[in-house]
Amino acid sequence: MLGHGRGRRHHQRSRARAVVRATAVDGRIETLRFLTPADAAKVKATFGTPTYVYDRATLVAQADAAKAFPNAFGLTVRYAMKASPNKAILKIFKARGLNIDASSGYECERAMRAGFAAEDISLSSQELPTFFPDLVKQGVKINACSLSQLERFGEAFPGGEVGVRFNPGLGSGGTGKTNVGGPSSSFGIWYESLPKVKEIVEKYKLKVVRIHTHIGSGSDPAVWQKVSGMSLDLCREFPGVTTLNLGGGYKVGRMSYEKSTDLQVVGVPVKEAFEAFAKDTGRQLKLEIEPGTFLLANSCAVVTSVQDKVVTGTSEGHTFLKLDMGMTEVLRPSLYGSQHPLVSVSAAGTLPTTTADYVVVGHCCESGDLLTPAPDEPETISERTMGEVNIGDLIVIEGSGAYCAGMSSKNYNSFPEAPEVMKLEDGSFALIRQKQTLDQILANECDIA
Ligand SMILES: *Cc1c(COP(=O)(O)O)cnc(C)c1O
Repeated sequence: MLGHGRGRRHHQRSRARAVVRATAVDGRIETLRFLTPADAAKVKATFGTPTYVYDRATLVAQADAAKAFPNAFGLTVRYAMKASPNKAILKIFKARGLNIDASSGYECERAMRAGFAAEDISLSSQELPTFFPDLVKQGVKINACSLSQLERFGEAFPGGEVGVRFNPGLGSGGTGKTNVGGPSSSFGIWYESLPKVKEIVEKYKLKVVRIHTHIGSGSDPAVWQKVSGMSLDLCREFPGVTTLNLGGGYKVGRMSYEKSTDLQVVGVPVKEAFEAFAKDTGRQLKLEIEPGTFLLANSCAVVTSVQDKVVTGTSEGHTFLKLDMGMTEVLRPSLYGSQHPLVSVSAAGTLPTTTADYVVVGHCCESGDLLTPAPDEPETISERTMGEVNIGDLIVIEGSGAYCAGMSSKNYNSFPEAPEVMKLEDGSFALIRQKQTLDQILANECDIA
């Protein structure tokens, strides 16, 4: 690890000239979404920092917006639970009538333990678990995501009903790493393998009842609509298909200058395409969508403390803020170069009146643990204009609901998992996951006899 760290540091020094100054694109300072400055201080006093804070009102509002997706012949909204799998969140969505998109066999089990019926879960996974037959027998719906998965399903359930996930040959995503369609993506069955799919279907007398396409997160709405049309063409190939699942990927702006997808806008042409398909074929297809980001992105903020401040000279240098969190809680900036709003709050729970330019870093011994990368360039540092803060003050990291608590470099440097809390409608905070203990981190280690 030492060698790696040194390499990264050297690499970064050589790119230091490429530093982007003040990413607040139009000078806008980011603001709090659902917390007040006093809330942030209260969270710290009650739960410590760092703490993830979800907002139940936002989760419910986003679930209702997803359920209003335009559709011709019925809609099922599946929560892509990998975005944030806490039981409290699953229960809120279950109460709103959402179903589940699971990305692993373990997620299926987790959703059932949170109270979902097996029939309400569909599994689209890069790894079809060895125990998938048990899941199917309970009622979980499988979307075969590769030819070998389809073959395995056929062997286990000849004559059975199955979904097929295709890669339509076209992808879209916020970054190369979140694009899951096109020839550079391994997700789903390549569309030109259609004859091979039909061969396997015939061999095991399978009934294809669902077509699934999901092309990426943060998609361009125009590409998304085009893929909807291509997906309907795939439905023509299988007369038994009753449901088309178009996945997730609705872009959500986290920074104030980023735009969000309007589901009402992207949904209308999709609805019209379903109607045209019905006129043409007499088949009224049901629509499924699987939002993760849309439901969670702006439904959570991480409250964190500035635990150190370092200045590296005046002309070439920077003022670095070191937080008491980092890639161990919010990995997206280090992984994708994602931008998250960083809002300064004084230790007393007020907003600062002066601004300053900072490079904000995490607490890990890893130079890539960076909260202010250049946009889409995880290895280039950039300065952010934000409220002036000192050691002991707070920074609230907004936009931390999707792919944060559920996707982080957990336990790196032996930092325990941060607690998760839910802000309720009356303004109170309820703990939904305790802070991990060192004993829990060590629990599975064994001594050599
Ligand atoms: C991750 C994923 C989603 C959710 O994507 P978002 O961009 O978070 O909306 C939906 N469906 C499948 C199959 C996925 O893997």
